[in-house]
Amino acid sequence: MSAESNRVLLKHHLKKLRMPTMSREWEAVAASCAKEGRDYGDFLLGLTERELIEREQRAAQRRIKGAKFPVLKTLDSFDFAAQPSLNETLVRQLAGGEYLEARENVLLIGKSGTGKTHLASSLGFAACTQGKRVRFWGATALVTHLLELREQRDLKRFFTQVEKHDLIVLDELGYVPFSKAGAELLFEVVSRAYERLSLIVTTNLPFEQWTEVMGSERLTGALLDRLTHRVHILEANGESYRLKDARKRRKKPRGG
Ligand code: ADP
Ligand code: MG
Repeated sequence: MSAESNRVLLKHHLKKLRMPTMSREWEAVAASCAKEGRDYGDFLLGLTERELIEREQRAAQRRIKGAKFPVLKTLDSFDFAAQPSLNETLVRQLAGGEYLEARENVLLIGKSGTGKTHLASSLGFAACTQGKRVRFWGATALVTHLLELREQRDLKRFFTQVEKHDLIVLDELGYVPFSKAGAELLFEVVSRAYERLSLIVTTNLPFEQWTEVMGSERLTGALLDRLTHRVHILEANGESYRLKDARKRRKKPRGG
């Protein structure tokens, strides 16, 4: 067979085997191996490595998309100097992802604008790149969604899905109090997650005030019990980054 028809055949085989990177790059890798006098084993190794790396990158992109982050934030853009009360060492340790293996939770407490959502998104993003399945939910949006699913008698599937994740972020618990049914459904999520997967919860509320959001003292106790059994607590006591940023902008001379 001619070299050209062999090429066509190889392309076809690699497509069937779902190896798009190998199909695209084999000629370049072959040329560089020939030039450097490396053998067939090296050639195959180099090629399979590229396929694996690209595959992993595509999977991470899919996980990031599936996590539905409100905005993509990473720790690179977080200014720790602006939030000195925050335990930077703990944040960086958490970004390493060990807490996910141990199914531990993270609680981020602080006033509005102190970077809680930014940090929660960053940790979620890091988890995605570490091969974890993540879902970001605004707490209120989640409860609204759960109440709708309950109407449609479709909760079971949702809870099964919950258990397939490695990390669920519940953002901004505490801004809006839940109805009794809503609080119970949220408790159900925390219950399902307990010891199966990690939760990151961000809130502006100190523990004493959780009852105001959840309604019942009994339910709040049970929820906090599960949430805080194995928990890393991050507190941001500084001032709002939004306010500081706005002030800085106002102070800056025009055009500067
Ligand atoms: P919170 O959830 O605590 O109300 P956010 O995380 O939404 O606060 O932060 C508000 C805005 O300020 C976001 O755009 C966020 O990226 C930014 N921000 C907050 N803290 C910091 C920080 N320390 N460094 C960089 N950006 C920050
Ligand atoms: Mg927030």
